Order: sequence, then C-alpha cells, then structure tokens
Amino acid sequence: MHWADVIAAELLSKSKKHRIATGISPSGHIHLGNLREMVTADAVRRALIDAGGEAEIIYIADDFDPLRRRYPFLPAEYENYVGMPLCKIPDPEGCHESYSEHFLQPFLESLDILGIPVILKRAHEMYEAGDYSDAIRLSLMKRDKIAEIIAEVTGREEIDDWYPFMPLCKSCGRINTTKVVSFDEKRIYYKCKCGDEGYVSYEGGGKLTWRLDWVSRWKILQITCEPFGKDHAAAGGSYDTGVRLAREIFNYEPPYPIPYEWVQLKGLGPMKSSKGIVIPVRQIIDIIPPEVVRYLFMRVKPERHIDFDPSATLELFEEFEEKFAEKDRSVQLSLVKEEDYSIPFKHIIIVGQIANWEMEKCIEILKRTGQKIDEKTKKELERKLNYAKMWVENYAPDRIKFKIVEKIEVEFSESERCFICEFAKTINESMSADEIHTSVYEVAKKVGIDASRAFQAIYKLTLNKNYGPRAGYFIKSLGVDWFKKRAEKICQG
Ligand SMILES: [Zn+2]
Ligand SMILES: [Zn+2]
Repeated sequence: MHWADVIAAELLSKSKKHRIATGISPSGHIHLGNLREMVTADAVRRALIDAGGEAEIIYIADDFDPLRRRYPFLPAEYENYVGMPLCKIPDPEGCHESYSEHFLQPFLESLDILGIPVILKRAHEMYEAGDYSDAIRLSLMKRDKIAEIIAEVTGREEIDDWYPFMPLCKSCGRINTTKVVSFDEKRIYYKCKCGDEGYVSYEGGGKLTWRLDWVSRWKILQITCEPFGKDHAAAGGSYDTGVRLAREIFNYEPPYPIPYEWVQLKGLGPMKSSKGIVIPVRQIIDIIPPEVVRYLFMRVKPERHIDFDPSATLELFEEFEEKFAEKDRSVQLSLVKEEDYSIPFKHIIIVGQIANWEMEKCIEILKRTGQKIDEKTKKELERKLNYAKMWVENYAPDRIKFKIVEKIEVEFSESERCFICEFAKTINESMSADEIHTSVYEVAKKVGIDASRAFQAIYKLTLNKNYGPRAGYFIKSLGVDWFKKRAEKICQG
C-alpha cells in the first residue's frame, strides 16, 4: 500500500472530513525542500478523496514573521529591515508589493502548475482580521502554565518576564526587539529596544511566538493533519510542546503529524533558503514536468531523505516512464493531467539535439526511427521538447550533450577507418536501431577491432568526440544514408 493511502486510512478511521495544514515562510526562494511539504499534503488529500473522504489543504504563508538576518542574496541596506515582518519590507527587486509577495507569488504559480489546490491564508491578514485575538488573549492569561509546559517539554529554563507574544513596535517597525510589559482587555503594552514604549491592539499589533502561533492555528483553522519538517518533530521540539499546549491550554486535539526529511541538493547538503543553496521550485518545473516533480516525493516515504541531483533527471524520467507503464500508485498520485508517455525521454534528448530542438525536424526523425506519430504523440513531443531543451542546456551532464559536427577534425587509426568503411557498407535504411547496434559488434569482430574502439570511431566521425548516445538509435536518428555519406569522407581515396 502506498504511504499516502496508509495515512488516509488512519485519518478516515477518525473522521471523514479533513483539513491539512501547510506553512512556509516566504523569506527567500521557496525551494524543493519546502515543496515536499506541499506535495506530501496533496498526496494525502488525494488519497483521502480516493478513499471516499473529504479533504482540503490550507496553506499559511508566514509573512508576519520577521526577517531574521540579511541573507547573502540581499543588498546591504536590508540590514535595516532585519526584525521587521516580511510583509512590511519592500520587494528586493521592486516587482511586487512586498518582500513576502516577491517570493510567495512564483511559488503559488508553481503550486498551480503542480496541481496542488490550496486555500491561501496570509498570516498577517489573519492577525489583522482578529482571527488570532482569542488565542492571544488566552496565551497571555495562561502565560505561567504555558511557560511551565514549554520548560517541561524542552528542558529549557523558564524566563520570568517572558510572554508568548511579540508586539510590533509602532516606532521602529520591528517585531523581535519588543517585550510585553502588561496587557488588558484591549491593549498589550510593550517596551522596545529602540526606546519606544506604548501599546498595540490584539488585531495585527503583533504575533504569537512560534510554538503558540502554530498551536493556535490548529484550533482556529480546525486542522486535522499536518506535514512538517523533521526539526519540529524532534524530541522536545515544537510538535511535542504543541501536543501538550493544544490539549491543556486550547482544548484541541492536535493534528495527525507527518514529519518529513530534508531534500538535499546532491553534493551541496540540505537546501536552505537562508544559505542560498537552492533551486527555486519555479525553476525546477521548467526543466521537469510537474508530474515527475511530484513523483520525486511520491516514490519514497516522507521520512526518507531525498538526494536531488538535477543532472540525473534522465534517470528519474526513465523510472517514471517504467512506473507509468505499470500504472503504479505513485504515478497515479503524481499525474496532474492526463498525459502521454509513449516517446521515451532519452529519445527526445537525442532527437532534440540532432534537430536543434525544431519540432518538425524532430517529428521527421522520430518517424524514421519507427516511432508512431499522431496528434497525441505530437502534443506529447511538443511538451517534452521544452523540458528536454531546458534540461540539456542547464543541467545535463556532458556525456549527454552533443553537437553534430560539420567537419571531421580528429585523426582515425587505420583499424578505425577500416571499421567505419566496412560498417557503412553493412548497414542500410531498412535496419532497426537495434539491428544497427548489433552490427557494430559484428563488423568490429570481422575487422578485428575492439567493440569499444568501434563505437568511439562512430562518435569521432559524427561528433569529433570519443563518446555519444547509444549508437544504434543515434545512427537511426541521423539517418543511415546520412551516416554512409559521412563515412565516405574518410573512406574515399
Ligand atoms: Zn518582486
Ligand atoms: Zn522599536
């Protein structure tokens, strides 16, 4: 059984209707590691619906969180904005109304392309609308008990003048430099490091500290299930405190937890927006179709770590194609629309490069290789050609990239020349790619050259290199007659 179906079954044993929460702070480029949260939530949402339940995803954009520090990708003047809520800071590139929208908008666009429907809640709007006001009041009133629970679960010492609320300073605009002094029915009084003293209202005048904010939203939004990064799931972490706070302070049963592991960018460690080692989601879905991006997460359980290697996209594609043919559940949960998978991606990579990514030329070549082409495959080709081109140009390893050369600029040994000439005589247009491939071995044996050298000779003749795509399919794509003509260049005289 697929992991999402297992979770769905467990959830359905409690209730038929579910609300899955996700939350990502738009403090920098939203990357593949963050996306895991959304895709995991969506897998469970689909599994719930497939099993007869009802489900929706709430996405809380934590845009009321402060900018923690000036990240390496920010200009020097952003030092001044550290501590201010993300929604109140200007867009570093000036194209959106705020810092948070700049990172949020492309991500929302990606979610749409990935087929993940969400109900969007901006944290600052929820606070301003007063959604949190009761929770803030309760948290301030039960401050002692809350501090005791947090100290017990985390093992940290209680701080005497601590309050679970961060007022937004009216003077300097920072939210992490203030302290609550006291509060009454309508106002929360604070002191700020900038010297300001004053009061804020319960509606948008500040936010609850993270552990309380999280628990409050469970209750406010009636959340029943939530995937979250493994850091929150650690012993004494925010989920542990959340469970106790939910039951003992808010009288709410905590949501079903789905802790997930990090996604690492191969060779670079975990993706962290703050360190700049990321590939934004919006960029990934230009090189990999949405269903294959989803599949990256569907194929392994959330608690398994993922090493993402953009240069290994071809391997990911090939696995997807195989599972697609098997109608695997992981693929079912990945598909965004009805899609066709009849032209192998590895062929599109070869054909596209030969045809210089021209659609009509590609069709011609594919027909020559025996691929059936109809309206459906044309659409499939058109779609995948874009992904293939973007991938080859940006991430593909050198061994996959090639260019057919106009002029042969490498030397051939006598045995290589002999092989090419004999091979060109042996093959003909009616042979299949596999037959051509087999005859490389046969001719090599006949002329007494190692098969590996024979293959090298083929690539030297066409690419001025010692390596290239699988020879049979490659020659079939180039056209046997074309290859014979090319061979003449070294066989005459
Ligand atoms: Zn912008
Ligand atoms: Zn201040």
